[in-house]
Amino acid sequence: LPFDDRDGVIWYDGALVPWRDANLHVLSHGLHYASCVFEGERAYGGNIFKPSEHHQRLHDSAEIMGFEIPYSVAEIDAAAAEVLQANGISDGYVRPVAWRGSEMMGVSAQKSRIHLAIAAWEWPAYFSPEARLEGIRMTEGRYRRPDPRTAPVHSKAAGLYMICTLSKHEAEQKGYNDALMLDWRGQVAEATGANIFLVQDGKLHTPSPDCFLNGITRRTVIELAQKRGYEVIERAIFPEEFAKTDEVFICGTAVEVTPVREIDQYSFTPGDITLNLLRDYDELVKRSHDMAAHASTSAA
Ligand code: PMP
Repeated sequence: LPFDDRDGVIWYDGALVPWRDANLHVLSHGLHYASCVFEGERAYGGNIFKPSEHHQRLHDSAEIMGFEIPYSVAEIDAAAAEVLQANGISDGYVRPVAWRGSEMMGVSAQKSRIHLAIAAWEWPAYFSPEARLEGIRMTEGRYRRPDPRTAPVHSKAAGLYMICTLSKHEAEQKGYNDALMLDWRGQVAEATGANIFLVQDGKLHTPSPDCFLNGITRRTVIELAQKRGYEVIERAIFPEEFAKTDEVFICGTAVEVTPVREIDQYSFTPGDITLNLLRDYDELVKRSHDMAAHASTSAA
């Protein structure tokens, strides 16, 4: 089903509207000049995992892009929960998006209205179940994450996803699942929609998030790893190091924890550390739903 032709409702500037009526004008600044930020969240058992972290990041992304979302984090938390409930979604994906409207059409758009919409849909897994167990195959992308002096790299801004889509399409056309994105220095940065971890000598290594998103899942995985007593080292990583790397995985809201079995000429076998963290993450997101269910039961 195309995304503009479905049953259900979308939260749009403060009200639930029929899915097919959640439209915007073609002369929207967000479309022409990419003055647009968004979030990607997952719900498990009817509850979003870390909703306020996502909605705070939405606010921060907008602030970096020079605009203010006219709803508080708490209001967005409530609206996202309302969207899930109204659509009867238990396990799914939530997509808030904020953009500059149509009041001004030009590079400058200081007086444009800021819109916010929130949609949700059922979305079981990002990669196939086999890929999630055996690991995905990646290839180095053509485009690099820009220097923080070149672009607002810490905003989850729609404009930055142009390089992700181009890299992902090229990887898919070559038969890979995803692209590995380097940064402007040639250091390993991330996947097109997820952060990356390497296992070397029983320790976790991950690039310092100085020119890409410090993912909510990335931070969760670091906590889970430390709880297990694994050392986590954040540092500059160059792709040549894949030769002495035992395991690789990517992590993000959509991909959760997904092992990587190949990056171009390098291959890896998902091992204990990756699989333990994959299980710990699965358990945590389900537990947060169990705890919420328990809390609402005891309150009732
Ligand atoms: N990097 C990019 C480019 C992403 O799109 C995402 C997904 N939002 C991430 C990393 C991981 O972020 P999170 O764990 O907060 O979903």
